[in-house]
Amino acid sequence: MKLRNIAAAALMAAALQTYAQAPKYIFYIIGDGMGMGHITNAQVYNRAVMHNDRPLTMMQFPVASFATTHSASSDVTDSAAAGTALATGHKTKNSMLGMNPDTVAVTSIAKTLFDNGYGIGLITTVAIDDATPGAFYAHVPNRGDYTAIGRQLAASGYQFAAGAGLRGTTDKAGNDTGLFDDFARNGMKISYGMENLDTISPRVLLLSTDTERPWNVGYTIDSIPGALNLPGMTAAGIRHMQRTCPERFFMMIEGGNIDHAGHANDGGTAIIETINFDQAIDLAHEFYLAHPDETLIVITADHETGGMSTGNNTTGYSAPLEALTGQKVSKESFSDYCKGILRSRMVYKWPDMKEYLAENLGFWNTVAVTDEQEKEIEEMFDRTFEQRNSAPDEETLYANFNAFSSLIFRILNDNAGVGWTSTKHTGVVVPVFAIGVGAEKFAAMRDNTAIPRTIMEIAEIDME
Ligand SMILES: [Zn+2]
Repeated sequence: MKLRNIAAAALMAAALQTYAQAPKYIFYIIGDGMGMGHITNAQVYNRAVMHNDRPLTMMQFPVASFATTHSASSDVTDSAAAGTALATGHKTKNSMLGMNPDTVAVTSIAKTLFDNGYGIGLITTVAIDDATPGAFYAHVPNRGDYTAIGRQLAASGYQFAAGAGLRGTTDKAGNDTGLFDDFARNGMKISYGMENLDTISPRVLLLSTDTERPWNVGYTIDSIPGALNLPGMTAAGIRHMQRTCPERFFMMIEGGNIDHAGHANDGGTAIIETINFDQAIDLAHEFYLAHPDETLIVITADHETGGMSTGNNTTGYSAPLEALTGQKVSKESFSDYCKGILRSRMVYKWPDMKEYLAENLGFWNTVAVTDEQEKEIEEMFDRTFEQRNSAPDEETLYANFNAFSSLIFRILNDNAGVGWTSTKHTGVVVPVFAIGVGAEKFAAMRDNTAIPRTIMEIAEIDME
């Protein structure tokens, strides 16, 4: 064998050996409520409205498949049962977290990886004690027991956690639960905002500076000054892991607001949240490109929310998403605006509202409003703001929308070609995308409980 060939063979062997190693870095990225409708609309918006030649990063991964999402109690799962499936590989009943249907605790892959020397980082745009992140460290019969969930995060030993806030610091009567002491006792420092984040070791919980909204960092589309956002938290999390556990780490990154926008049937907001989610994926992908033989990235969703579609009965065979380019506020924020006007009893006339709708939602500009629609809007305006005899609020899981705002967003969805079938979750399959070490093992359709099992098989660590 010529020397050159020997060298080539040695290189090849080295490459194979490296590839055969278990991944040192694992990113598990979950779009809460993100179905193919959300991804398709985000990609159509990315291509046809933002004129990006490059498709969304997740759509470019070499492996793309599907997962079923049903829970032990229903074909339509909630986030607690779905989070438990994705974190532990076990089915459970809706609203149960980290336990099987018999309330026996089941172990998350984050805990098993932690016990095997991996650093652990958990990131979400909703509360850090919410169902999806909670499934990676908590065991409670009811996902609403925020104090117990918070205590289990403090005791987890995990190096990094980030989210909007903690909801279990006071009980229902408003009494202090001592949860902050749990974090202090366990050496997990709480950082409100990112200012001093990079000086804190080894354990940190990053929370929003806005402690009034612990459930959510706010929607990207609302451009809230100083708000935490998913790409920012992801970058901070990667920095923290590289500083405190550079040898090996596991990060779970959740885009939680895709689900909230789905519950609200707020098309523009759901699209912008999905694009924001993809920007966080970009950061994990950049990390992968720097460590291609040591990194695995798996992207999926816990379930679909809203039954979102591209195209509807109003627009037929078209999806004119450019109608959404004038939208600068979420449905939630517009509803709050309407409620504020009603509460303040200020004089607010139809021309005032017309101006607001034109400026903040693109009506009569990017949104071509028909005469019939204008009549419907004006009548509802009259009833709501002149006669003060508003139709009942539209109640969804996370918000009660003023009826006028619900009408405005129904027209916005109708004219943009965005369809919705529910304000709840749906039971359709969700996407799975993968790249990196062992990614090919995700090529076949599977149940959501098989995803964590496959990750652990690639990591060569037995499930507990
Ligand atoms: Zn949901």
